[in-house]
Formats: sequence, structure tokens, C-alpha cells
Amino acid sequence: MAIATINPTTGDTLKSFSAHSDAEVDAKIDTAESAYRDWRLVDIADRAAMLNKAADILDRDCESLAALATLEMGKTIGSARAEVQKCAFVCRHYAQKAAAYLADEILESNASKSYVSYQPMGPVLAVMPWNFPFWQVFRFAAPATAAGNVGLLKHASNVPQVALAIEGIFREAGYPDGIFQTLLIGGSKVERVIRDPRIQAATLTGSEPAGMSVGKIAGEEIKHVVLELGGSDPFIVMPSADIAAAADTAVKARNNNNGQTCIAAKRFIVHADVYDEFTERFVAGMEAQVIGDPMDEATTLGPLATEQIRTDLTKQVDQLVHDGAKVLTGGKARTGKGWFYEPTVLADIPSGSATRCEELFGPAAMLFKVGSIDEAITIANETRFGLGSAAFTNEPADIARFARDIESGSVFINSMVASDPRLPFGGVKKSGVGRELAAHGIREFVNVKTIAIA
Ligand code: NAP
Repeated sequence: MAIATINPTTGDTLKSFSAHSDAEVDAKIDTAESAYRDWRLVDIADRAAMLNKAADILDRDCESLAALATLEMGKTIGSARAEVQKCAFVCRHYAQKAAAYLADEILESNASKSYVSYQPMGPVLAVMPWNFPFWQVFRFAAPATAAGNVGLLKHASNVPQVALAIEGIFREAGYPDGIFQTLLIGGSKVERVIRDPRIQAATLTGSEPAGMSVGKIAGEEIKHVVLELGGSDPFIVMPSADIAAAADTAVKARNNNNGQTCIAAKRFIVHADVYDEFTERFVAGMEAQVIGDPMDEATTLGPLATEQIRTDLTKQVDQLVHDGAKVLTGGKARTGKGWFYEPTVLADIPSGSATRCEELFGPAAMLFKVGSIDEAITIANETRFGLGSAAFTNEPADIARFARDIESGSVFINSMVASDPRLPFGGVKKSGVGRELAAHGIREFVNVKTIAIA
């Protein structure tokens, strides 16, 4: 994939970038390694001060940074602003909490004193996706650099200007050279970087195939890896729920980021007692979306980020319809410029369709009617993914069942799944390995060093 800014609203290529050569990448890894030697010794309070400065820059430049994200990947300008603000939040969160999250932990043993010290690992490679082009990077970089690591970013090839802007934010915030660098390279060059002995660990947020590749290479090199992969999150609606609120949230949860969110609700599993009411409201909400230029404040649904994503979604929806699913609304790409796809609701999803367990990365929802909580949980768990899940109910017994039995990294009751710097984030099954955010996230890229003094 060429490294270029291609406006998804028009399909026009606006700017192309030359990839860094192997020699340039090697020089950047060298810079990272030597920067790490000093950075690991910098007082955590000083590292926190730089994070606060990065947060201030994000706030100051929110408008121009948001416009860059919208230009490169098509998210609505309002959601792009919210993303940049959330990056400032995660920087401030770790500026405030990193010292406590990484404080030595005294543990009792036969030694006169024994404790755990959380120490940095060194240069970490971060392979990141385009869908939240600022947030995915900051949720890695804020904790990782606060812990004393240094970061090398291989961003998605369609968001090079965002990638370079992030490097600029760290530079302006006062981070020494080499603490955070962007590598302009394609996916095929990732293996070489992971295998470099100076690289200590890797993280990838992206698709399952990319995760498998990075995980395999890191495994062969015996290097720590965090993988944040795809999802086909269930959104369950039970009879005791507030149906109007559930339907309203369902529309947001499916269409957020033009439907291209790992934790988007993708499979709507609705109890038969409230199915008709929910479906009517949900379809009306999907049809009320304002499709158009994401720079326009009135737009609620912009284009998909690339032509390939739209092609993939079209194939999946066509396959479901071929298998017997019924189109309640939408069901096709929009003609004309840009990679637009109509908000779509599919019902009567056949049990034999393999596509029903796939991730639909765009504004297309699958509806399932169920007769019991057991059936709802069975369908919720039938995919190989296990990222997030949401359930709408006011029955304490339902809440306890969902919390215990849904196979996912999170269960949200009466709200949509969302990441939050204060809460750990990650998946089970094929949705990934490891956690980001909160104390759990900052402790991923550390050496949990045991010190025992006889
Ligand atoms: P992708 O195609 O896997 O790309 C993600 C990143 O991996 C890009 O930087 C890409 O580089 C690189 N890449 C692709 N193939 C690679 C390979 N074989 N080896 C090494 N690097 C490789 O995914 P995407 O289409 O950008 O993102 C959508 C996917 O990400 C969805 O499945 C979504 O659910 C998932 N996602 C998960 C989370 C989470 O937190 N769990 C968050 C956001 C997105 P190029 O651009 O150069 O190809």
C-alpha cells in the first residue's frame, strides 16, 4: 500500500510520501536505543511534565489536528475533535498516575526485604491502524514513554500526515530526540524491525492477519507483544430495558467512526418480547443518519476510509443476503465520489451463514431475535472474537449472567462500549493479547523485576 493521503470523501490523492529506506530505519533505531539509555534514568515526574505539555499542545492544536484526521480517514470533524481531546486526557491521566501505577511493591518472602520494581524495557515498536489515528497511538505512547520506554511508530500507510504530526507533538513537548519517532514504512518492513535485536517489544492494533504475523515473528524472537485486534461485539437488548434508549445507543454504537470501530456494536441480539419495537426504532435511527462530507458539522456518517474497506463490506453484506438475510434498510454502496456506504440493517440472519460471525467494518448491523437469555449468550459467544460487549437490561439477574458468561474483554450494561484511560482495555479469543490503559496498560511494557535482599 502506497504511503499517501487519499481523501476518502473524494478519492483524490492529495500527498504521497517516500518510504524510509532500510538505512534510515536503522539510523532511527540507533537513535531510539541511545535515547533510551538516558530516558530510563529521567525522573518519572519530569517525564510526566512532558506528557502534560503534550496534552496542552493537543488542546491548543485540536482544530487543525482534527481536520487532518478527517482529511486522511474520513471521520466526522466532531468525532475527530473528541478523539484529539481524548488523547490529551490519556496524557494527563498518565502524567498524574504513572508514578503510583509503577511504584515499587513490597512483597513478603523469606528475604528481609523483597519487592517488585517496574522498570522500562527499551525501544518498543508500535504498529497502528488508521481508524483512530491519534488515539490508538497516544494510548500506547503515553503510558509506554511515561514508564521510561521509547517508541517507534509504524502507522497505517493512509495516515502519514497524522503520523508525522504526532512525532511533532512529542518534539514540541520537549521529549529528547529519539523518544518517539515515526517510521514511514509499509507492513512488509515490520518483520525486519521486530527482528532487530535493539527492539525489545512490539504492539499492534489492527486486523487478525496482521496480528498473527506480528505475534508469530515476536514469538520467534521471544519478544513481548500486545495485540489489539478485531471484534464483532454483541449488543443485547432484554425485555426490562429502556427500549428507546437502547435503540438510540445502538445507532450510535454501530455508526461511531463511520462504523469502523473495533468495539462498535455489530451484532444486535434482541429478545422477542421487544424485538419489533427495538427494530422499528433502530431502523428509523439508521435511516436518519446524515451522510456526506465529514468536514460538514451536520454530517453524522462520513465515507469509509479506503475503497478496499468498502469493497470488503459490500462483499460481506452481499454474502449475507445471498445466504438468506433480509435487508431492512440500506444494503449497498452509494454511487458517486468517495467511499460511502448506506447505513444498513440486516435481519433473519441464517444460522448457517459463516459471515454472521465476521467483523463488519462499516455501518452495517445484523439483527438476531432470541427467546431467552441463554440463547442471547450463545449467539453473543458464537464468534471467534471477544473484544467488548453491551447489554441493555434492568434485571440484576441478567446483569450477573452477562458479566459472568459473555466471552469478552469488557461488558457494558445499559451503555455502549467505550475505552477510557482509567479502565483496562483489550480482548480475549481472537481479539487480542494483553491490555492497554489504566495500571494494566502501563505494566505491559515493563520488566517486572523482583528484588530480594537476604
Ligand atoms: P490492518 O490492515 O491490520 O492494519 C493495521 C496496521 O498493521 C497498519 O499499520 C498496517 O500497515 C499494518 N499491517 C498490515 N498488515 C501487516 C502485516 N502483515 N505485518 C505487519 N504489519 C501489518 O488493520 P486496519 O484495516 O488498519 O484496521 C482495522 C482492524 O483493526 C479491524 O479489524 C479493527 O477491529 C482493528 N482494530 C482493533 C482495535 C483494538 O483495540 N482491538 C482498535 C482499532 C482497530 P499498512 O497500512 O502499511 O498496511
